[in-house]
Amino acid sequence: MGNTSIKYLGHSAFYIKTEDCGILIDPWFMHNPEVNFDIENENITHILITHGHGDHFGDTVTIGKAKNPTIIAIFETGIFCEKLGLKAIGVGMSGAVKTDFGTVRFLPAFHTNSLPNGDYGGIAASVLIELKNGVKIYHAGDTGLTKEFELIGDLYAPEITMLPIGGHFTMDAKEAVIASKMLKTQNVIPMHYNTFDTIKANVEEFQSDISAIGKTCIPMKINQTITF
Ligand SMILES: [Zn+2]
Repeated sequence: MGNTSIKYLGHSAFYIKTEDCGILIDPWFMHNPEVNFDIENENITHILITHGHGDHFGDTVTIGKAKNPTIIAIFETGIFCEKLGLKAIGVGMSGAVKTDFGTVRFLPAFHTNSLPNGDYGGIAASVLIELKNGVKIYHAGDTGLTKEFELIGDLYAPEITMLPIGGHFTMDAKEAVIASKMLKTQNVIPMHYNTFDTIKANVEEFQSDISAIGKTCIPMKINQTITF
């Protein structure tokens, strides 16, 4: 323990660093001068994409061309990346891929999925990462509240969970509290809020609601890194 970290790059973008790998999830940050993350100086071995909307697919093409990481996404989104000349693996729902950092499994998200060119991107997904050290990290992508979370909680009970709380495009903060219970997760990182006027959320209130059900809320600031 202690040699794995998660850095927040704003919105729904995270960088997970393990001993051998650097994993970007939904990398949309290069437009944001606040974000301190120079792709040239970072180890980027994988990009996980939950769905093709611009605020998630983000800088995949630029980073893919610069660093040649393995991109893992739902099948149609993966094919789209391949057609752009990127190295990609496309999976179906519940599909798991073994990687150098452990396993990543694509699970349901209650959302839509169009690609940057307007094409259908396949079903939207969430991702469950099981690192080699056994720690499970669940990134819910964009999703509404759904009973699927109960199944994910029963099967995987992820130690760390990133949940959207901004409403409008996803569930809101109150629903995310219910989701954290269903997911049987201990640590909750809120995401997908306060980026636009339509997704304003009160993160202090969310934090106290999460504490009230005996869990830990970690509202990460942009560039903040947690190590575990
Ligand atoms: Zn989004």
